[in-house]
Amino acid sequence: MHDKIRNYISSNKDKLLSVLSELVSIPSVKGEAEPGAPFGKMPRAALDRMIMFCKEEGFRTELCYDVVGTADLCPDDSFPALGILCHLDVVPAAGQKGWNTDPFTMVEKDGILYGRGVIDDKGPLAASFLAMKCIKDLGIPLKKGVRLIFGTDEENGSGDLDIYLAKDRLPENVFTPDASFPIINIEKGMMRSRFSGKYDGGSIIYFHGGNIPNAVPDSAECIISGISAEQIADAVSGTAENVTFTFEDQNGNYLIKCTGHSAHASTPESGHNAVTALIKLLAALPLEDGAQKDIISGLSEIMPFDENDGEHMGLKCTDERSGALTLVFSIFNMENGSCEGCIDVRFPTCTTLKKVEDAERAALEKAGCTFDSFLGDEPHITDEHSDFIRKLLSVYERCEGEKGKCIAIGGGTYVHNIKGGVAFGAERGDTDYHMHGANEFITVEELLKDAVIYAEAIAEICG
Ligand SMILES: [Zn+2]
Repeated sequence: MHDKIRNYISSNKDKLLSVLSELVSIPSVKGEAEPGAPFGKMPRAALDRMIMFCKEEGFRTELCYDVVGTADLCPDDSFPALGILCHLDVVPAAGQKGWNTDPFTMVEKDGILYGRGVIDDKGPLAASFLAMKCIKDLGIPLKKGVRLIFGTDEENGSGDLDIYLAKDRLPENVFTPDASFPIINIEKGMMRSRFSGKYDGGSIIYFHGGNIPNAVPDSAECIISGISAEQIADAVSGTAENVTFTFEDQNGNYLIKCTGHSAHASTPESGHNAVTALIKLLAALPLEDGAQKDIISGLSEIMPFDENDGEHMGLKCTDERSGALTLVFSIFNMENGSCEGCIDVRFPTCTTLKKVEDAERAALEKAGCTFDSFLGDEPHITDEHSDFIRKLLSVYERCEGEKGKCIAIGGGTYVHNIKGGVAFGAERGDTDYHMHGANEFITVEELLKDAVIYAEAIAEICG
């Protein structure tokens, strides 16, 4: 059967590429909500087009609440046993520097496809679609059904799934081809919290650092008064490791800028935090005594420069299956008597949202601040000994010719809140596919291999 599937997929390469090329040509970036299009006109247009593709193949399709589309291939009227969850929305490309081609025109060059969404997640969706078409056209008998599910809001918080799941259920087994091979079965918990503080007077006129809640900030700046150039130069020489500082006289005050290195909040060790570096520098200066100074020294104590494991916040923990907790102080602003900040924590399965909240609250109070609010999710775990995972791994090993395994990650995937869900593809190894970046790509060969893997997974689980 493996050869039959492989031959079918390679002889239907043109179909795969034409579906993908059409999907890429719809710039399905989140837009203003409109009647019938809660996430904007273009995600809705992509949704309608994908439903048409599925209808043309004779799949039973449904448009659900204007936000999700489904296409079923079922032997009977029973509810599908397998769900393949993809998304049609993409992150913006307008104004993104470095594209060598138009992001919304798929271009093939030397066997590589370029375009926004080719790896995230339109390519894997097109491969899953061809996988279903393959099972149908080859007449491979199924005992249970499969449902292709395509959403329109993965990139902005999965509001599409919230709407869908409030009214509909998902198949018992769901995989999403929206991350990496082999299988991601554990996703750390996540807490993004906000805090604030108040003070009167002080040497810092303003502080601005970071603007993305889930990234290591690569820039921060402040203006301070009452401190000399020599004092700043002294402090810089004791702080400037892995970051760069510049400072300039502004009518007797000093503007200090810090440049670090950005990284995703789930992998902070590959960045250098400009906010904590600048706070460390300030804490080393003879600032005017008072609440503002206390906040700066308090924050530098509980979140030292480039400490990524939350140790001084009382959060450090690790477990074998999901790894170590990470903490990123991502945004900090201070001006006119008040300050506010944002902290992103990814935590292993040995702790809970409640414990992280309690520790942060206590530490921030010690630093003279108040814990205000948070958004968060508990860790996601799907049993790696389940029949579902065993079957996916055997398909992976057969198709890729290498040992499959389950992995844990710090980021959240589309199945984070779906019980029993796993991520299965479509990135491979250490390749940087420029996901969310300029010149996003996938190779034609990989896309064809994906379609084979997904077709075999359907046959294995539903056959
Ligand atoms: Zn994605």
